[in-house]
Amino acid sequence: MPRDTKIVATLGPASSDPDVLERMIRAGVDVVRLNFSHGKPADHVARAQLVREVAARVGRPVGILADLQGPKIRVGKFAEGKIRLEQGAPFILDAKCELGNSERVGLDYKDLTRDVSPGSVLLLDDGRIVLDVQRVLGSEIFTVVRHGGDLSDNKGINQQGGGLSAPALTAKDMEDIRTAAAIDVDYVAISFPKSAADMYMAKQLIHAANGHAQTIAKIERLEAVAALAEIIAASDGIMVARGDLAVEVGDAAVPALQKRMIHMARENNKLVITATQMMESMIVSPNPTRAEVSDVANAVLDGTDAVMLSAETAAGRYPVETVEAMARICLEAEKSSEVTLEREFLNRVFTRIDQTISLAAIWAAHHLKVKAIAALTDSGSTALWMSRLNCGVPIYALTPRAEAVTKMSLYRAVSPVHMSHQPSSRDELLDAAEQQLIKEGVVEKGDFIVITAGEPMGNSGGTNTMKIVRVGEKKGPAA
Ligand code: PEP
Repeated sequence: MPRDTKIVATLGPASSDPDVLERMIRAGVDVVRLNFSHGKPADHVARAQLVREVAARVGRPVGILADLQGPKIRVGKFAEGKIRLEQGAPFILDAKCELGNSERVGLDYKDLTRDVSPGSVLLLDDGRIVLDVQRVLGSEIFTVVRHGGDLSDNKGINQQGGGLSAPALTAKDMEDIRTAAAIDVDYVAISFPKSAADMYMAKQLIHAANGHAQTIAKIERLEAVAALAEIIAASDGIMVARGDLAVEVGDAAVPALQKRMIHMARENNKLVITATQMMESMIVSPNPTRAEVSDVANAVLDGTDAVMLSAETAAGRYPVETVEAMARICLEAEKSSEVTLEREFLNRVFTRIDQTISLAAIWAAHHLKVKAIAALTDSGSTALWMSRLNCGVPIYALTPRAEAVTKMSLYRAVSPVHMSHQPSSRDELLDAAEQQLIKEGVVEKGDFIVITAGEPMGNSGGTNTMKIVRVGEKKGPAA
C-alpha cells in the first residue's frame, strides 16, 4: 500500500544540493515549500527548476507550494544587534526610532501604535518575551517587561488575543505572486489572512498573473479562527500554522483547534496541511523525540492531508533522515487508523453527477474490499472528493494533464499518475487504467478494482461512469 499522508518539505540551504534533494524525494517528499520569507525571486526560480529536474529523474510527482511572507510585524534593528530585557524593566517600542538600545527599539510595522492600548499584551520572538502595554503616546508604546530575555534584530511581534490590523497581502506578496505564477507553482499559501476577502483577493491576484495555483490559507491569527468557515469556503485548503497560531491563541488551545480545522476542511472538500515543529529536534539530532513521533502520528489520525517540515529540511543537519522518519511514522499510524466510512458518509451532501459517482465508487470500494480505485480524471476533482473520506482503499488518479498530477500530490490517499497517451475509446481507456495498476504493482489477475471515468472522454467535470472490474477478465458495458 502506498503511504496516504503526504509530506511537505521546506527547501533551504540544507536541501539545495541536488544529491540531498534527490535523496529527500526518494525518501518520500510529495510537495516542496518555497519559503518567500527568505531568498530572492531568482533563488526560488532556480530551486523550482531543480526540483522538477530531480523529480523527473526519480520518476515521482512532486508539487510546489509558494509560501508568501505576509505582513512583517516586527521590531527594528539594534545598534548592538541584540539586547537583554530584564523582568520588570520599562521598554519602549518607538515607530520613529532608527537603531534600538536597551531602552527602546523601532518598528517595521508602524501602525502598531494604533492597534494597541493600555492593558494590551505583546508577545515578541514567538512568545519568548512578553511586554505589558502601559500607555501609547504619539509614536511611542510604553511597556513593562513581564517575561524578559535576549531580544535581537527584526524579531516578530504578536498581540495576545489578535487585533493587529496589518493587511494580509503586502506589496512584496503581490510581487511574489507574480514570481510564483511565472514558476507555475501548484499552491500559494497566504500568511496571516483574517477573512475570506483576503483569500478572494489572493485568488484574483494569481489569476491576474496568469497563474493556476490553488490557494492555502495559513490559519495563524485569532481572527482567522473566528472566520474559519468563510475562509475555508474561499480557499482550496488551509494550513494549521501552529507557530504563530500558538502565540495568538495560547499554545494549549492549538491541539483541539488542529482537530477542528482538519475536520472542517475535509468536510468541506478542502485540503489541510499540519505544520510547524513536527520534527523540530531533528534539526540537530538524527532521531525524533517520542513526543514528535506522537505528534506526527496524531495529525495522521486526525486526517490531515499532509504533514509539513520547516527548518528540519531547510536548515537542519538531517534533512533526508527527517523525511525518512516522517514517512515511517505516517505509514505506521495509517495502519492503525480506523476506517469509519459509514458514519462519515451519511453526513455528505452532494448534488453533482461527478461527485455522486466519486462517492458511489468510494462506497463500492469499501464494501467490496477492492484492491484499488482508478479515477480517470481531467482536473483531479473526482480524486479530491474520494480522498475526503477514509475508505481504506488506495486511489490512483490517472490524468493526461501534467499540472493536475503535481496538484494531486498533496491529496491524502491519492497516487497521481500521468497518462501521456490519451486512449481513443472507452475500452482502451479502461484497459489502460487496469494496466497502469498492474504496472504500479497494486493489483494482479483476479483482484477487483473500481474504475471511474467520463463519457465522452476528456471533459473536465464529466465523470459519469463507474465500473467494477476483475483484473484480467474481458470487459462488459459500464454501469
Ligand atoms: C507557522 O507560523 O506555523 C507557519 C507555518 O508560518 P511561518 O513558518 O511562515 O512562520
